[in-house]
Amino acid sequence: MKNIACKLVVVTLAITATWIGFPRVGKPDEPKPTAAIVNPLDAQRAYGYLEQICALGPRFSGSPGMQKQQAFLEEHFKKLGGKVSYQQFLANNPRGGEKVPMANMIVEWHPERKERVLLAAHYDTRPLPDRDPDPNKRKTGTFIGANDGASGVAVLMELAHLMPKFSGPLGIDFVLFDGEELVYDKDDPYFLGSSWFAKKYAEKPPAYKYRWGVVMDMVGDVDLQIYQEQFGIAWRDTRPMVKEIWETAAKLGVKEFIPRIGYEVRDDHLPLRNTGKIPSCDIIDFDYPPWHTTNDAPKHCAGSSLTKVGWVVYEWAKGQK
Ligand SMILES: [Zn+2]
Repeated sequence: MKNIACKLVVVTLAITATWIGFPRVGKPDEPKPTAAIVNPLDAQRAYGYLEQICALGPRFSGSPGMQKQQAFLEEHFKKLGGKVSYQQFLANNPRGGEKVPMANMIVEWHPERKERVLLAAHYDTRPLPDRDPDPNKRKTGTFIGANDGASGVAVLMELAHLMPKFSGPLGIDFVLFDGEELVYDKDDPYFLGSSWFAKKYAEKPPAYKYRWGVVMDMVGDVDLQIYQEQFGIAWRDTRPMVKEIWETAAKLGVKEFIPRIGYEVRDDHLPLRNTGKIPSCDIIDFDYPPWHTTNDAPKHCAGSSLTKVGWVVYEWAKGQK
């Protein structure tokens, strides 16, 4: 991924009018970020998770690496008290032949709570590094997706440590989407897992309701800069949540969340919102040179990036009444 319909970067819009601002030096009477609050997440541990996921190798849909990842994650989330289940289905293989087994992994925390927030990431990797500078590697290279694949998963693995004590009223579900990019050619369909999930949710509404959905994708970049994704700010039902998330970041002093509009990114938040009717946004740093190359490796990611994103999302979710 991702499709960029428009390379409109950093347009300053009216959102800045409601923006409460970064800490400014030299004005002691102004409110400062709450310096007393310390990020409860562990950056070193989160980075370790990212490395462990990458060590499993390519994890495209239906691959042995994906199976290993599922076992690894299932053990991790269960050990911390999450209720793990899979939503399985078959998808067409874009290369023909047998269908590909797909599985979204769902991890529920406090399943008795009827109003819930969905925190999502895709856990499949693109089958090939088809933007690699080396044309041979585009067809035969190994893609391990440290940022594009493992980063969102590592954030959820780290957040899991806080979930058992997550105070109500809202419950949290982690959903790891399969088939975000079982893509070999530009015309192959994206978002197989999130589309399936959203369709099932809309067709047969469960006893609970998702109030919000937050997708995290490519959130591990060492040079982290997260602008507000265009769809999230354009849709009337998601604009308030986007503003709240960036305001939360400002209060925490996480300046990597930049309160201006960045790329338009087609990602798993589209099916969640358009099909599932779950107001959903995408937290993504799309400016990442190793994207879809053999160079998307842990060395280009940082634990502190993972935990900054996790912290902002956690504090925002905790603030929901
Ligand atoms: Zn991708």
